[in-house]
Amino acid sequence: MKDKKANKNVKTPKYIFVTGGVLSGVGKGITAASIGAIMKAKGYKVSIQKCDPYLNVDAGLLNPVEHGECFVTADGRETDLDLGHYERFLDFETNKYSAVLSGALYSELIEKERSGGFRGKTVQMIPHFTDLVQEKIAAAGQGSDIHIVEIGGTVGDYEGLSFIEAIRLFANRVGRENCLYIHVVYVPWINTSKELKTKPAQNALKDLRGFGIIPDVVVCRTERPAPRSMCEKIASFSGISSDAVLNLPDIDSVYDVPFNVLKSGVLEILNKFIGDNSEPDMKKWQEFSEKRAQNYDRTVKVGLVAKYVGNDDTYICVTEALKSAAAWNGVNLEIEWINAEEATEEDFAAVDGLVVPGGFGERGAEGKIRAATYALENDLPYLGLCLGMQMACVAAARRGGVKNASSEEFGAGEGQNVIYIMDGQAGKESTGGTMRLGDYPAKLKNGSRAAEIYGKNKVTERHRHRYEVNQKFASEIERGGLKIVGTSPDGKLAEFVEAPGHKFFVATQAHPEFKSRPLNVHPLFFEFVKSLK
Ligand code: GLN
Repeated sequence: MKDKKANKNVKTPKYIFVTGGVLSGVGKGITAASIGAIMKAKGYKVSIQKCDPYLNVDAGLLNPVEHGECFVTADGRETDLDLGHYERFLDFETNKYSAVLSGALYSELIEKERSGGFRGKTVQMIPHFTDLVQEKIAAAGQGSDIHIVEIGGTVGDYEGLSFIEAIRLFANRVGRENCLYIHVVYVPWINTSKELKTKPAQNALKDLRGFGIIPDVVVCRTERPAPRSMCEKIASFSGISSDAVLNLPDIDSVYDVPFNVLKSGVLEILNKFIGDNSEPDMKKWQEFSEKRAQNYDRTVKVGLVAKYVGNDDTYICVTEALKSAAAWNGVNLEIEWINAEEATEEDFAAVDGLVVPGGFGERGAEGKIRAATYALENDLPYLGLCLGMQMACVAAARRGGVKNASSEEFGAGEGQNVIYIMDGQAGKESTGGTMRLGDYPAKLKNGSRAAEIYGKNKVTERHRHRYEVNQKFASEIERGGLKIVGTSPDGKLAEFVEAPGHKFFVATQAHPEFKSRPLNVHPLFFEFVKSLK
C-alpha cells in the first residue's frame, strides 16, 4: 500500500508504547502489530520495535523449543519471533534497530566505558542505560509517522524496570502529547465462581502508576467477550476514564485481531491521538480474512519433517506462510508434523507434499534425507528450506553414487562432504551472530522452475547458515536428480536446486518463509501449495 499521507499530517513521529501486566504472553505483540496494521491502512508510515529485558545480546543462541523461532532481519540481526509478526502484519521490513535487548545495550555501555568514553563519570542505570534505550527508540522511529514500541515481559519484572523508566522519560523528550501508552492486562475467568476477576488487572495498573505512567488505553484480554461492567470496574478502581478501558477477547485467528481492535473502541482513541478521523482501508485484510475462514472442498495435507514437532512457534514463519498460501489458493490446509527422527515412507505417502525446514545438528538428519529421497523417487512435491535444501542435495548425491554422502556439520570428511563449511566459518561453530545472516542476492538460471515461480532471475532472500553445498559434487547431485539452478551472483554459493520434470521439487539455501506475508504470500509457498491441489 502506498504511504499516501506519509509525513503530511504528522511532522515528528507519534510514539505508541505497549506494555503488559498480570502475565506475559497474552497477545501484547499481536495487539501492537494490529494497531500498526490499522495505522498503515490509514496511510501512515509505521515502524515498530521490541525492547526485551533479557541479558542475551541477540536471539541467535536461544533454544528454539523454549523461545520459538529465531527471526532474521534483512540486515542480518537474529531476533525474537515477534519481529516476524510485525513484518507479517505491517508488510514491511524490520531492521537491527527493531530489536533492543538489554545484553546488547550493556555491551555497548561497557565498551564505551572501557574506551574512556564516559570521561571519568560514574556509569549508572539512570541516566546512562535509560538514555541509551531512548536513543534506540528515537533511532528506530526516525522517518516514521508513527512508531510503536513494545516492551517485553510484564511491568514490575525486576529486569524490565529501566525500560519502563526510559519510556516514561521519553515523554519529557518529545512531549507527552506525542506519546500514547497502552497497557495490556489479562483478566482471568474463574470457573468455580463463574466470574471475571479484575483484581490482578487493578494491581497491574497500580504498579504502572507507581512507575509514573498513567496509561491512555487499557486493553483487557479475556478468554470470552466480557461485559462492559468489567471495563467500568477496572476504570473506576484505577482512575482511568472508562472509555479508555477496552476488551479484546480471544479469537480464532490472530489475523482477525485488527478487526477486533477496530470494533473495541481503540480506534477512536488512536484517531484523537493523531488528529485524523479517516477510515482505514482494510479491503485486503477483509479479503484475506474471508478467504482464510472459508471451508473449501479440497484439503491439502503438508508433512512438515522437523526435529521439534508439535510446537508451532518453533517454525512459525513456515506454518504461517503455508496457511496464507492455502487461503490464497482456496484450499483447506492440514499440517502433519512428521518427527524427523522416526520418519518413514508411510508418513511420506500419507501426505500431498513435504516441507523440510531449516535446522541445526545431526539429530533427525537421516529422516530428512529419507524424505527428500522419497519425494525425488515418487514425484511427491517437496519444498526445502536451508537445511531442507542441504539434505536434499545429500539425498541426490547418494543416489548419484556418493556413498555415505553427508554434511561436514555432522562430521562428514573429504569425499563425503557434499555439504561443507563456508569460507571463514571454521572455528566459529558455537558463536553468536557469526553465520551468513540476512539478505543476500541470488541469480537464477533462465528457464528454471525457480525463475518461473519468481517471475524474474535476480532475487534476494534472507539467510542464516554456516554450511553450503560443495559444488565439487554438482555432477553426482545432478545424476541423483537435482540441478543447481541458482547461485550467489559470483557463482560460488549454491542458492537454489530443483528436480527437472518433477511435479514440484524446489529447495533453497535461504529462508523464504521470513519474507512471506498474509497479504503478500511468497511465490515459492504459493506455488508449492498450488502443486498439491
Ligand atoms: N545447519 C545448517 C547450516 O548451518 C542449516 C542452517 C539452517 O537451516 N538455518 O548451514
